Amino acid sequence: MHHWLRHISLPSYSPDTDVKSIEKFFVHHVEYTLARYRGNINQMGAYRALAMSVRDRLIERWKDTQLYFKKNGVKRVAYLSMEYLIGRSLQNAIVNLGLEENFSAAMKNLGYVLEDLYEQEADAGLGYSGLGRLAACFMDSMATMDYPAWGYGLRYKYGMFYQKIKNGCQFEYPDYWLENGNPWEVERLDIMYPIHFYGTCKMEMVDGKPHMAWYPQQKILAVAYDTPIPGYLTYNTLNLRLWSAQPSKEFDLDQFNSGDLYSSLGDRSHAERITAVLYPNDSSFEGKELRLKQQYFMVSATVQDLLRRFRESKRQLTDFPELVCVQMNDSHPTLAAIELLRILIDVEGMSYDESYKVICKSFSFTNHVVARSNLEKWSIELMEKVLPRHMHLIYEINHHFLQQVEKKWPNDQGKLTHMSIIEESPERYVRMANLAIVICHSVNGVTEIHSEMMRTEVFPDFFKLWPERFLSITNGVTPRRWMLEANREMSDLITKWLRTPSWTLNLDLLSDLARQSDVGSLQKQWSLAKHINKERLAGYIEKTLGLKVSPESLFDVQIKRVHQYKRQLLNIIYVIHRYTTIKSMTIEERRKVTPRVVIFAGKAAANYAIAKSIIQLINNVSVVINNDKNIGDLLKVVFLPNYCVSLAEIIIPAADLSQHISTAGTEACGTSAMKFAMNGSIILGTMDGSIVELSKEIGETNVFTFGTRAYDVPSRRSAVRNGEWGVDSRFEAVLSVIERGDFGSHDFAPLLNSLRYGNDYYLLSVDFPAYVEVQDNIDAAYKIPNLWNKKSILSTAGSGKFSSDRSIKQYANQIWKIKPARRSGPISVSAERLSSLGVIGENVGNMVSGSPINVVSLERLARERGNNDNSHSASLRSQRPLGE
Ligand SMILES: *Cc1c(COP(=O)(O)O)cnc(C)c1O
Repeated sequence: MHHWLRHISLPSYSPDTDVKSIEKFFVHHVEYTLARYRGNINQMGAYRALAMSVRDRLIERWKDTQLYFKKNGVKRVAYLSMEYLIGRSLQNAIVNLGLEENFSAAMKNLGYVLEDLYEQEADAGLGYSGLGRLAACFMDSMATMDYPAWGYGLRYKYGMFYQKIKNGCQFEYPDYWLENGNPWEVERLDIMYPIHFYGTCKMEMVDGKPHMAWYPQQKILAVAYDTPIPGYLTYNTLNLRLWSAQPSKEFDLDQFNSGDLYSSLGDRSHAERITAVLYPNDSSFEGKELRLKQQYFMVSATVQDLLRRFRESKRQLTDFPELVCVQMNDSHPTLAAIELLRILIDVEGMSYDESYKVICKSFSFTNHVVARSNLEKWSIELMEKVLPRHMHLIYEINHHFLQQVEKKWPNDQGKLTHMSIIEESPERYVRMANLAIVICHSVNGVTEIHSEMMRTEVFPDFFKLWPERFLSITNGVTPRRWMLEANREMSDLITKWLRTPSWTLNLDLLSDLARQSDVGSLQKQWSLAKHINKERLAGYIEKTLGLKVSPESLFDVQIKRVHQYKRQLLNIIYVIHRYTTIKSMTIEERRKVTPRVVIFAGKAAANYAIAKSIIQLINNVSVVINNDKNIGDLLKVVFLPNYCVSLAEIIIPAADLSQHISTAGTEACGTSAMKFAMNGSIILGTMDGSIVELSKEIGETNVFTFGTRAYDVPSRRSAVRNGEWGVDSRFEAVLSVIERGDFGSHDFAPLLNSLRYGNDYYLLSVDFPAYVEVQDNIDAAYKIPNLWNKKSILSTAGSGKFSSDRSIKQYANQIWKIKPARRSGPISVSAERLSSLGVIGENVGNMVSGSPINVVSLERLARERGNNDNSHSASLRSQRPLGE
């Protein structure tokens, strides 16, 4: 490194954040990055120039943060996930920098509306569902709380498919989210690792000792793409490293030499296929070789990267767990541990026992699966073909493990069969979750009820063997994206009534709203904020579907992946029942009906026929009802296409009611209920996943719950199966009008058959009467505004526990044993912003970054952050144990 480089100052890249500097950076990027004329820049061009200007601010912090972690030799966590459902980044970055006012003013001066530029950005949809969104929320919390962390995943060229609805039917289109470039990533051609596949293993003698050598057949390069993840009002900025596949030059050269240019180029595109597309996180990818290669590609590159960084510390490899821990988001990255084991034994020459200790101390596993039948498994035939050496190691691990089982339960063949990492059915499989439990020091469920089911139903034998390994950490969501950014109206109101903006960093403060939930003026402002959000959603519905809905109606929302267990079908069956009931009413009776807009959004996996026909039914029902002049505004049904993060950000703040009605015992968590509660939406749910804890926090009388409890599900199922369950006549009536063709000629027979003849596995017919009853209670409650508003305020007040900050703190303290490492640096929050929040401190006129910074207010926020880590939680601890 030429040390004179240090003395060159870059005037245009100093981190100035005042309005004039922002304008200059923007114009700089228009002229030099985009090479366009100032007078000739469209909205997309303006978005890109703006995003680059924001990125410059982030890169500065991001480099400093990495350097700070390195210099201080802190222990770090690597978070491994096959999915990151990030959504958009521009607003998040600007808000986390505390600069929304300044950026808004600068854009206005240049003739743009900041919010319109936000809309230009494509969602980064590198995930399918809650699991991927969880990883994104966790990154935000880890950055905000200054934890030394790295995110690792894959840079898919095509994210979650783009959903279009034609004639009520779902069509899937490729989601090429990189079409307009991705200003948030930095391509790191300097960080590249070889990844090997296939080939054979041979036992060889090295220095007189037997040694297993792997001769792989394919080599593909993993190139790093880094995305800075800014924390909220902190200088710390983390890194999300996503790997992209690239053909390896030397491998191709061999083929060129053999004179076969075209098949060699064919291999090139083959290599790039590895990170081409995201597989949905459910059974539809089962057994796909490319998915297995994706998983190994991700973890091998990540492990090589962790080792490279660890080696810089010059410590012995046996110390690895003291500096690095690895958290696996579900069992998909489990091969990371096997890859590390392989490198320690085969490359570093460590003994099996020593190497095994290292991986056990470093790795931990979050399980997201509820039903045993959904646990991930890979055919051994495929594993042996793609990763022969890893398969050897898995056999070896299993051999040692089964000896332990045998010691604990002598001669218990049942235990050995159940617990073995290898499933010995006619086709043999590797059980990834069993493998993960064996090689990790900790395994956690994602809600209390889910963790209990893991102990008693999913992994009872493992729990008996290693009770100390099993933990429960309830998921959370980030209040920055889901409240502050998505719902500015309500956020400002909360700041005003709590008299501090620091709830965004300490969500437990929301509980103070409960005290004020009866105050008339708060209720009035609260419902006004909700109304503004409903108008915005109504505008979006009209723009998208050409349908007018009234913001005076109750907005009743169910948005999530479309799946039988999530029971959108129960919802639409009730809607049909509601429709036929209203139609049979006199005019007098109709006056008493609570008008509703029932809003759905969600994607079905492309090969999941029943889920797709549920989407068809919802759309067909909406056509009939919305065009029925006789019904008018009493009932509308809306299916918004292409559910994604940015759509959720519009819908959630506008919901009066949200539905989370999975059959009890089928949803591990369900994080969207947390987002809804934070936004003052009242919950209608079954006692499943997160709803159990939400209803405890919010108060059972303030949420609407119904339906079979998890412990009763098995007996109800058998009653249904044996035809012993008397089906509700209203339920049967709905099925017959569907059958009769009232909602189109589409063949709904498979759907109806999934409910009849003892096939109703998800217990729709069983829960239907209770569902109708609770819907009546909801209609009645909505008619009493102060009752409804109070429930709404209490929903927000009770949601403090569900901040992902709390989840991450538990992971850090209980599993990772890491501490925050805060790189100090200027935090830029404009004085206008703080005073608009009602935080009036002494303005000491400190000129940081060209604009006066309200130091007192910032210190106050910083103090709250300090409290966050110790003293404040003392008062909370008396209310509820965090299990710390
Ligand atoms: C939160 C979220 C999810 C998870 O929703 P659940 O209702 O918990 O299944 C899925 N997709 C998106 C886009 C989300 O924001």
